[in-house]
Order: sequence, then C-alpha cells, then structure tokens
Amino acid sequence: MVDENKINGFLLDIEHEYTKARKKHPPMHSAHEGISVIREEFEELWDHVKADTAHTDAAYTEAVHLATMAMAFALEINGKLMDYQKTE
Ligand SMILES: [Mg+2]
Repeated sequence: MVDENKINGFLLDIEHEYTKARKKHPPMHSAHEGISVIREEFEELWDHVKADTAHTDAAYTEAVHLATMAMAFALEINGKLMDYQKTE
C-alpha cells in the first residue's frame, strides 16, 4: 500500500491543479463536456503508457490532470458525497 505522505502529496497536487484549472477555465457545464475533458486527459496518460513512459514526471502530471478532472466531474456535475460523509 502507498504510504499516507504520498497520498497526501498527490491530493495536494490535485488541489493545486484544480485551482489552476479554474483560474483558466469555468466549471464544467454538462456531463458531456466533463466526460470529454476526462477522456482527453485519459488519452494523454494513455499515450505515456503506449510509449512506455508511465514512470516519468510527465506521466505523473497527466495522472494528476486525470484525477483532477474526475474530481471536477464528481463535484461540479454530480455533487454527491459518499454515504460515510453525509450528515443530517
Ligand atoms: Mg493533461
């Protein structure tokens, strides 16, 4: 299992990337727009896998982009949280 410091570092990278992205682009307007952005980021990461460069810094950055856009979809389009986080 990946250690907690690495997980926290990755989450910080996602937060930083999300803030940067939203200074450049507005929130996702629709599920179709969101999935298109996610697909684009997936393809950029997939290019690294096909080129056998998945262990490079550039591939890590694309993994952060993909996770960031997945988070944006979850929060901007869906907005639900997992059951364990819901309070009444
Ligand atoms: Mg990218």
